[in-house]
Amino acid sequence: MDKTMKKKMEQLKSKLMEIGDLGYISSLLNWDQSTYMPPGGAPARARQMALIGRMAHEKQTDAKLGKLLDALEPYRQSLPYDSDDASLLRVARRDFELAIKVPSAFMADFYGHCALSYENWTQARPANDFQKVAPFLEKTLDLSRQFAEYFPGYEHVGDPLINLNDEGMKASSVRALFASLRQQLVPIVKAISAQPPADDACVHRHFPESLQSQFGVEVITAYGYDFKRGRQDKTHHPFMTKFSLGDVRITTRFDEHFLNNGLFSTLHEAGHALYEQNINPAFEATPLGVGTSSGVHESQSRLWENLVGRSRPFWEFYYPKLQKVFPQSLKDVSLEAFYRAINHVKRSLIRTEADEVTYNLHVMIRFDLELQMLEGKLAVRDLPEAWNARYTADLGVTPPDHKDGVLQDVHWYSNFIGGVFQGYTLGNLIGVQMMEAAQKAHPTIVEDMGCGKFDALRSWLKDNVNWHGRKYLTDELVKRVTGKPLSIDPYIHYLKRKYGELYQLS
Ligand code: ZN
Repeated sequence: MDKTMKKKMEQLKSKLMEIGDLGYISSLLNWDQSTYMPPGGAPARARQMALIGRMAHEKQTDAKLGKLLDALEPYRQSLPYDSDDASLLRVARRDFELAIKVPSAFMADFYGHCALSYENWTQARPANDFQKVAPFLEKTLDLSRQFAEYFPGYEHVGDPLINLNDEGMKASSVRALFASLRQQLVPIVKAISAQPPADDACVHRHFPESLQSQFGVEVITAYGYDFKRGRQDKTHHPFMTKFSLGDVRITTRFDEHFLNNGLFSTLHEAGHALYEQNINPAFEATPLGVGTSSGVHESQSRLWENLVGRSRPFWEFYYPKLQKVFPQSLKDVSLEAFYRAINHVKRSLIRTEADEVTYNLHVMIRFDLELQMLEGKLAVRDLPEAWNARYTADLGVTPPDHKDGVLQDVHWYSNFIGGVFQGYTLGNLIGVQMMEAAQKAHPTIVEDMGCGKFDALRSWLKDNVNWHGRKYLTDELVKRVTGKPLSIDPYIHYLKRKYGELYQLS
């Protein structure tokens, strides 16, 4: 690299770092609002989020940034596709092209609105009050559609929003994938539902919060979550966030009468955090220094939550420990009974508590409803009714209230409507496909889990997935890591194998 290019590359990196840091400052404000901020802080916090959002957007769209990227184009072309600099230039170019299409004033308005809407939701949900969120949601829908209009030429109004989280994917590609998945899933759910229901009463006994927290910390420490570069706090709706590669935080919530809630949220968020903690440190505060998409992020969280945390070998090791932590509630429960209880398949109301088999049906309901709202076919005022109708039709359960119905997930109340939920199902599919590849490379992974050892799996994920940050798009990464394009087959085989054994399906 000649001297001028080297200098320009340094200038570019310092500009990108400022943008990255403003994003992290905004995440810090957001984390604080979701954990410790008193409600009285909400109006000022909305203003502050809008300010930071506008400042970041002004930097993202700075003409000087565009000029630097232009000047560095010959340098990029001289490099191999997957070199760090070429990847940084490629991803920074895509971010720049996207950002300049959206006015800074719009983004400021949007961030400010989201902060107020989130605060409003935290009150509306416990009060079971959909009317309270409806005006906020109407504005969110307007803003979401307005955002899409900055990208004329889209195939579907949801595409620009899907692209924000799962770059390169479209409503049509996700719909096609979901349709074939649904076709395979529905008969499995039906066959299981025809069986006598499994008994999961043992996970609904009393589990003191402090002990749940202590056990969760023990497991995620063994997973490799680094508390020197992270911490865990309580929130309304668990999430992972980060302020640098050295500070990757997770949040959780507990229900003293339902063990799964806190336990599996903790394992899930730790999976997200392991992704971020294991990104190449050279990518710090650059556009490469984050996970590549919602789908791949969820593949990591769902893998640690389910493929590890709900597996039989895992509990062969951890169940005796769990029994020691909760002797009163679990001493008379066998490992087999416990394993069946945490893998109990049930058509239920809450996505985050759903089993692996029905989970994707929850996602499909949200995905379809948000596309209908964006298309203008479903009004916000009709959303609760549409939600309940879909739950009745798809899962055979009708929400008794909005709290556990349309108000249960934070997403629509704190971000755009559209573009986020598909990531969960993509993650389920990608996670299994990656786990297969990991096991091929290290055949002892499953055996290791039975001894509470996760090093080989974690290192494989680090080297093949996490380390690359945003270098590769989802499709590129999946192909590179597993040797095959994204497919529903590994996931369906996994479900049939695991649940076929549990429910004696033919
Ligand atoms: Zn997640």
